[in-house]
Amino acid sequence: MSSATDRLSGVQSDIRSAEAEFGRPDNAVELIAVSKTFAAEDIVPVLDAGQRVFGENRVQEAMGKWPGLRERYADIELHLIGPLQSNKAREAVATFDVIHTVDRPKIARALKTEMEKQGRNLPCFIQVNTGEEPQKAGIAPKDVASFLAECRDRAGLNIVGLMCIPPIDEAPGEHFALLEKLAERSGLEQLSMGMSSDYRVAVGFGATYVRVGSAIFGARG
Ligand SMILES: *Cc1c(COP(=O)(O)O)cnc(C)c1O
Repeated sequence: MSSATDRLSGVQSDIRSAEAEFGRPDNAVELIAVSKTFAAEDIVPVLDAGQRVFGENRVQEAMGKWPGLRERYADIELHLIGPLQSNKAREAVATFDVIHTVDRPKIARALKTEMEKQGRNLPCFIQVNTGEEPQKAGIAPKDVASFLAECRDRAGLNIVGLMCIPPIDEAPGEHFALLEKLAERSGLEQLSMGMSSDYRVAVGFGATYVRVGSAIFGARG
């Protein structure tokens, strides 16, 4: 059986070879190791292997695991990749370093208020519902420009890029291409896209962050 550290190095070399294959600059893509549902003791070997950038999808869960790990390991960068409620903005700003899921004006305002209180200015992504799925979070593609303006001009957030989760039953490439086009039009440089099943494809469409969980940590129970 392979270990998480073996799988981590496999994913990293896949990313490097995809960068070369698709003509991306070396190290253009940052790997976010998605550790949701896994305990601190499962994360430790991955930290010991040198990985420092991690993703979690729940504020509460991250608050339980990461403060202790941050005491033991320097330079951890923790990304919130799951939905955020405005009543959790305080904890989210205190726990995370990057927020990928800004998707409504209320969240944008709550985040800004907390960042000012806590003296933090976290880079943020706007989540885009590229498949326009009713049950899925995210801004509709046609509303990205106006929502970006609202986040920046009215809320004063540091928006660095766009994030998407393609529909599960569709080829991801067209969604990645749409996200890339929307970011380019808006002058945004960062693209958070690609998961265990499609991160190589995402590298080809310009991802700057891929969010990979089960391909590193194994199946979630
Ligand atoms: C869980 C999750 C991932 C990682 O999914 P895998 O298929 O395990 O790689 C990526 N992005 C988001 C938003 C997630 O919730």
